[in-house]
Formats: sequence, structure tokens, C-alpha cells
Amino acid sequence: MTQKFDEEDAKNLYWIIQRRRPAWHWKGIMHSLQQAASRGASLTQVMAAAEKTWNNQKATTPAALLWEENWIPDTKSKTAGNLMGQMLCVECTPARKHPVAEMTKHAHGWVCNEHQEES
Ligand SMILES: [Zn+2]
Repeated sequence: MTQKFDEEDAKNLYWIIQRRRPAWHWKGIMHSLQQAASRGASLTQVMAAAEKTWNNQKATTPAALLWEENWIPDTKSKTAGNLMGQMLCVECTPARKHPVAEMTKHAHGWVCNEHQEES
């Protein structure tokens, strides 16, 4: 039985994350965790993502808690993708963000509707 990540879990996980990444602002951490809770992520997913994120050298802010690369690939749902409201298109010049629903993953990254056919 999958347990949903909720607000109480967020409060507890906050302290674990804060200990590993003391430089991160509490508001940013809580915001990312609440996003995860409100989008229906499971407890397992969020805990694994949190651990991957604080070990990820590229993760310099708590917003990285919602990066897809920090989430376990899940073929049954698109939770990680749904967590990110917008994503950068790797083809747009200059780089532009688009709603997740309009993005498609390609070998080299995510592209928007306009650039899907070309790749
Ligand atoms: Zn594009």
C-alpha cells in the first residue's frame, strides 16, 4: 500500500534535509516539499528524491528537490514530471520555459511542442 506524502511528513523531512543542507532557506525547502505533497507524491518517492537531492552537487537551492533527475524513474506515473510546473526547452533560442504538459523528452533533454517534430 502506497503511503502519500503529506504535510506532517513535510515537517519531519524538513529537519532531515536542513541538517544535510544547512545553507538552504527553510521557506524554499518547505515550499518544495509542499509542492510534492500537493501533487500526490508517495512518501517513498519524496524521501528518495530528498536524499538524491542533498547529495547532488548541482543542487544549490531547495528548488532542486523537484528536479526530475532527483526522482526515481517511475514508469507507472509521471509524478516527477508533474511536480515541475514548467520546464526549459533545450531547442528554444533564447531558452524558454513551457508548461510540463507541452513538453516531450528526447535523448538530449526536454523539448516544447514547437520543436518536437524537428528532432
Ligand atoms: Zn522549444
